[in-house]
Amino acid sequence: MKALLIVDVQNDFCTGGALATKGGEEVAPVINEIAHKFDLVVASKDWHPEQTVHFDKWPAHCVQGTHGADFHADLNTAVIDQVVEKGTANVDDGYSAFEATNLNLTQYLKSKDIDTVYVCGIATDYCVLSTALDAVKQGFNTFVIIDAIRAVNLQQGDAERALETMAQAGCAAILSSAI
Ligand SMILES: [Zn+2]
Repeated sequence: MKALLIVDVQNDFCTGGALATKGGEEVAPVINEIAHKFDLVVASKDWHPEQTVHFDKWPAHCVQGTHGADFHADLNTAVIDQVVEKGTANVDDGYSAFEATNLNLTQYLKSKDIDTVYVCGIATDYCVLSTALDAVKQGFNTFVIIDAIRAVNLQQGDAERALETMAQAGCAAILSSAI
C-alpha cells in the first residue's frame, strides 16, 4: 500500500508568504492531479507557536491559527486523510513530518499497511529533505516527486544538493506522470 506525504503546502511558503519559495503554489495542481492514485494521503503543517527559538533562524512563519499557516487555496484538501502538525513547541525542530506531535506518523502509516511513501511539497532543501530521509530510516520504500517540490535555495544549488542527499540515502526520484 502506498501513501502520499504532502509536506507544508502552506501560504507562508508560497508566493507572498513570510518564507516564500519561488513558485511554491505551483506544486498544488500537480499534487491534486495524482492524489487519487494513493491508498492514503497525509499532509503536514508547519505549526509554530508565536515564540520559538526556531524563529532565531527563520523569519516568523506558519504561526498556529494564522492565514500563513493555512494550506494554500489551490491545494485540494478534500483528498487529505490525515493532517500532521510539526514544530509545535518552542524548540528548533519540526523539519520532518515524522516529527509530528499530534500523532506518531510511523505507527500511523504502519497501521494502514503502508510500505511505500511518495514525498512532495515544500521545501525541497528542508522539510521535504528531512521527511524523505526519515521515511527511508523508518523502513519505507521512498520516492520524491521531483515536479511537485520547490526549494528555498538560501544558497545556490541547495535544491540539487538536497536531491543528491536523498538519492544517496536510497530515495528514488520520480516524475508525477510516472506514478
Ligand atoms: Zn518552520
